[in-house]
Amino acid sequence: MTEPGPPVLPPKCARCMQDAGRRRIERSLRGRTASVPYCTRCSALMGRLALRRLAVALSALLVGVCTALALPIAAPGIGVTATSAISLGASLLPVLLHALLPVLNRTSEPPWLRGAWWHGDALVCPHEGFAAIVHDRNPSTLQKAQRREPRFAVWMGAPLVVVALVGPWSARLHHPTVRILNLTGDRMLIEVDGAPAVSVDPTSAESTEAGIVVRVPAGRRRFEALDATGEHLVTARVTLKSGAQHLFAPASEEYCFWFESVGYGRQAFEPTIRPLSGPTRFWTIPARVKLWFRPAPTQATADHRSTGGVVTALRQAHCAEAPPAARAK
Ligand SMILES: [Zn+2]
Repeated sequence: MTEPGPPVLPPKCARCMQDAGRRRIERSLRGRTASVPYCTRCSALMGRLALRRLAVALSALLVGVCTALALPIAAPGIGVTATSAISLGASLLPVLLHALLPVLNRTSEPPWLRGAWWHGDALVCPHEGFAAIVHDRNPSTLQKAQRREPRFAVWMGAPLVVVALVGPWSARLHHPTVRILNLTGDRMLIEVDGAPAVSVDPTSAESTEAGIVVRVPAGRRRFEALDATGEHLVTARVTLKSGAQHLFAPASEEYCFWFESVGYGRQAFEPTIRPLSGPTRFWTIPARVKLWFRPAPTQATADHRSTGGVVTALRQAHCAEAPPAARAK
């Protein structure tokens, strides 16, 4: 079956049936087009709908993105899901107003803005006189049924997609990760700012799976570690950085932590060791550290043909078994 051509429309304004001087292209979702005639006055009025759609889309984008960026800072206790939901809800406000408020205030105007629009493969013409002519000339594919004029265009969904992505990203950025390692040999309870946060099973041997990763709002926080009986072990007042990764190993003074860097290819150098120190046993781990609690691959396994690079691993061991350079002074 061949695709029907563009509909034949009379040279009258589709909105008011005055002599038409301009045309606007209407496109259906399936790619059909119609060159709809308008008088100068109606054409100008229609520009308002296009302008308002643009204003609504930009408002939805601005309100949603600003809410997503500001909320995790203004209300740190709000989690990832709530941040996403609230920012998406905020961006829907301009959309809701657009759906509820009339585009034209004048009561003398017809309630529709466009003289014709596509509904599937049918061209809807709200003006009865215009619709009758269109129907006569294009009886097989066109309809003159009265349908509500769609206020929204498909592209207006784009800001909502952007907000739906920015919300979780922003919430995660301002709720950085803290890996909590329990090296006490007994179950441990962690409280953050006085509220129970997580219970951590003990580990001793170095393992990539060791500990528990939690997300905590960035900023100044008070971490407390309690043993299985609720006895207070340690308090650490620390600063969490947005977007960073952190390590907290309370009551782990017998254990040593260090960064182990290995260079490959053109950047090849002897493995270096830098111990982590500090009384709080809480550290911000640089983003370049990709390997946690496993050795960096040795030179022998590296691809020497490559341009090279540096791999840094975070290591851990009982201080008695750690390399001498890894023992913090
Ligand atoms: Zn007109």
